[in-house]
Amino acid sequence: CGIVGYVGPRDSQAILLSGLARLEYRGYDSAGIAVIDREGDLDMRKRAGKLQVLRDDLTAHPMADGTTGIGHTRWATHGGPTDVNAHPHLADDGKLAVIHNGIIENFAELKAELLAEGYTFRSETDTEVAAVLLGREFAASHDLVAAFRAVVARLEGAFTLLAMHQDQPGLVVGARRNSPLVIGLGEGENFLGSDVAAFVEHTRNALAIGQDQIVAITPQGVEVTDFAGGTVEVEPFEVVWDA
Ligand code: GLU
Repeated sequence: CGIVGYVGPRDSQAILLSGLARLEYRGYDSAGIAVIDREGDLDMRKRAGKLQVLRDDLTAHPMADGTTGIGHTRWATHGGPTDVNAHPHLADDGKLAVIHNGIIENFAELKAELLAEGYTFRSETDTEVAAVLLGREFAASHDLVAAFRAVVARLEGAFTLLAMHQDQPGLVVGARRNSPLVIGLGEGENFLGSDVAAFVEHTRNALAIGQDQIVAITPQGVEVTDFAGGTVEVEPFEVVWDA
């Protein structure tokens, strides 16, 4: 339902949590974040319920912070609002985390294919098939953008997907089809959001991502391509916001 991504020099947990708080108006039933910590390990925390439940959990059991992160508020469509079904979802190696808005219409068929290959699933969500597929493709190419290109070609329905892999720290990749995603341009840091509210407290410089496009953000730059890998022009706009 709500999506935020961050790469830059600052600790990401507070940025992700405040971005999610600004997306709360959209409604949600669960919340979660994943961070690649300064040691290079990916860790995540996710809880059913209000953002405060997640915040309290992180206060009681702190998680190492890091400079690359993704955060999600979920409005359940496939699988009830439980801790396990909350996002992020991990690939089977536990090193890649995914968040998703929307519905992957052909998830049952993809899940059957992956189960037949011996992959296992923890949740009842449609999203987890994207996580497992991205993990499978990353293992083949060691390139998250290439993995996205291979995976989005298999997905039907509506999705904004964000992912990061601990072997490529400092990189968050996103893709969108029939579901919104915008880039926030900072100085030495960049953001992704399901809407500008996710990053408006940090930057007013935004880029719109078109239909069927993939974006890779690093602290230094932003690269947008279409699903086939071709370069595309992106439209800058200034966020007008009085709040
Ligand atoms: N279909 C996904 C799920 O049920 C994502 C829902 C959303 O957009 O928050 O977990």
